[in-house]
Amino acid sequence: MEKYEKMEKVGEGTYGKVYKARDKVTGQLVALKKTRLEIDEEGIPSTSLREVSLLQLLSNCLYIVRLLCVEYVTSKQGKSILYLVFEYLDTDLKKFIDTYRKSPNSRPLPSSIIKSFLYQLCKGITHCHSHGVIHRDLKPQNLLIDREKGILKVADLGLGRAFTIPMKSYTHEIVTLWYRAPEVLLGTTHYALGVDVWSIGCIFAEMARRQPLFPGDSEYQQLIHIFRLLGTPTEKTCPGVTSLRDWHVYPQWEPQSLADAVPHLDAQGVDLLSKMLKYDQADRISAKAALSHPYFDTLDKSQF
Ligand code: AMP
Repeated sequence: MEKYEKMEKVGEGTYGKVYKARDKVTGQLVALKKTRLEIDEEGIPSTSLREVSLLQLLSNCLYIVRLLCVEYVTSKQGKSILYLVFEYLDTDLKKFIDTYRKSPNSRPLPSSIIKSFLYQLCKGITHCHSHGVIHRDLKPQNLLIDREKGILKVADLGLGRAFTIPMKSYTHEIVTLWYRAPEVLLGTTHYALGVDVWSIGCIFAEMARRQPLFPGDSEYQQLIHIFRLLGTPTEKTCPGVTSLRDWHVYPQWEPQSLADAVPHLDAQGVDLLSKMLKYDQADRISAKAALSHPYFDTLDKSQF
């Protein structure tokens, strides 16, 4: 780790702190992520190695944050730690949205930026899905942004497969539920690619609104937020829903107008959003199909 000059802490993820650092030889800025991948007497467990290989494989895509290398370090206490070294990006989507939300510069995000970011997000997730990887924890904090180039990259990948997503982070911060698909909140045992598309929908709406679409603070409240806007699901709108592990009897809400919830989005945008927020996973649009939705017809795709 002497190769790097550690600079400030740039964030805290679910699994550990992230530091900005500079490669002393090349001057390149990097993000160092300490992982909790445990190393025992046998060395690095093969599951962790597989995980890192997968990250490396996936980062071969412009819309996925690039894993530059992995450093294996023994701490002063004799504990072995793995550091993942990523390319550094100057901000994340949460901070980016905040700059548009906070006064005195409060203004909507330009629709061209929303469209471009959503397209890149769908590209990155299509890449993961085509390799059989579900992200499972997409949220604005782990979408990194290169402001200058207008590039969005998916981060915090793969680790979700090694560890189950905890309720609280390592610093006991509550892990956000805002982007979690209803079937996950209801305890489905069949995690499918659609859970990421639901999260993408929530993020799309949040870019348009500059505030979260479903800001629940408990699993129950999270479901209530969703049901209030989209209507309480029934066996008709979502076959099998009432047999899920955590299903209860809920108040019956009728679906409200999605367009009213995202006032700055045009009709095509609202149509795509409604397809991402379908209760029935079989009905939910795939990330790949989303790329061909007419909402993106006005986007210059040659730049991607
Ligand atoms: P994560 O655990 O990946 O969600 O990271 C937590 C926070 O650290 C993110 O919200 C970012 O603000 C920051 N971060 C993570 N990776 C990078 C990176 N490659 N470049 C810059 N900042 C990062």
